[in-house]
Amino acid sequence: MSIKFLRQKLVLFITGAFLVSLLFACQGTPIVESPTPTATPITQDTIATNQFPPVAYPDRELSASPAQLPKLPYAYNALEKAIDAETMKLHHDRHHATYVENLNEALQKHSELKNRSVEAMLGDLNSIPEDIRETVRNNGGGHLNHTIFWQIMSPNGGGQPTGEIAQQINQTFGSFDAFKKQFNEAGGDRFGSGWVWLVRNAQNQLQIVTTPNQDNPITDGLYPIMGNDVWEHAYYLRYQNRRAEYLDNWWNVVNWSEINRRMQVKSQQS
Ligand code: MN
Repeated sequence: MSIKFLRQKLVLFITGAFLVSLLFACQGTPIVESPTPTATPITQDTIATNQFPPVAYPDRELSASPAQLPKLPYAYNALEKAIDAETMKLHHDRHHATYVENLNEALQKHSELKNRSVEAMLGDLNSIPEDIRETVRNNGGGHLNHTIFWQIMSPNGGGQPTGEIAQQINQTFGSFDAFKKQFNEAGGDRFGSGWVWLVRNAQNQLQIVTTPNQDNPITDGLYPIMGNDVWEHAYYLRYQNRRAEYLDNWWNVVNWSEINRRMQVKSQQS
């Protein structure tokens, strides 16, 4: 290879490089980088975790405009194995109804939110105007939490878990008894008012968590599979201050088939 040939090559290369840089300079700044192979590809998983899955019902999100008090799926006295009729009536007709009323009242001030579900608002609280953010958090949370709560109890509930939830509980906690113990302890340790939950976390693992007040786990990116209400209004008439006894008895009305259904909704999405 002659020196002359190499020189020609070099001149061509420099000219080429100059032209390319001229081309970029003419495009103006900023130059948008094209995707590189190291960038995270958008997969079904990425999309699923960026959305707010329906949490209240398996097939639809919970409407907030208007929010409506759902009917109890059984009679007030149907859960006597764990909860007395008077508590059920007050809890549903007064407490839950008040969360619904307060949510509707707050949202009247902001018609721009009228197409957003309760899940979408609680999953992104920072997007809610500040003047109603706490009201939406507490009352949207109250509406969502109680809507789940009524469904995951049944007069025919109780006993050992069945189906996929039984397997997952055994795998994660060792046994149903170990899970129950951990769940009850967490519920007992929740200071003041709140909820104890079994959730699925972002790593797709089961986890027991508690939330204060009416916070729902979706605000922390966790999918609630089942939860128990440990506010005093949930148990005080029958159990007075004996929360531990309420937590123990509550397992007699747990609706495992509904909980299995909730698990499957989430596994299909993730
Ligand atoms: Mn309650």
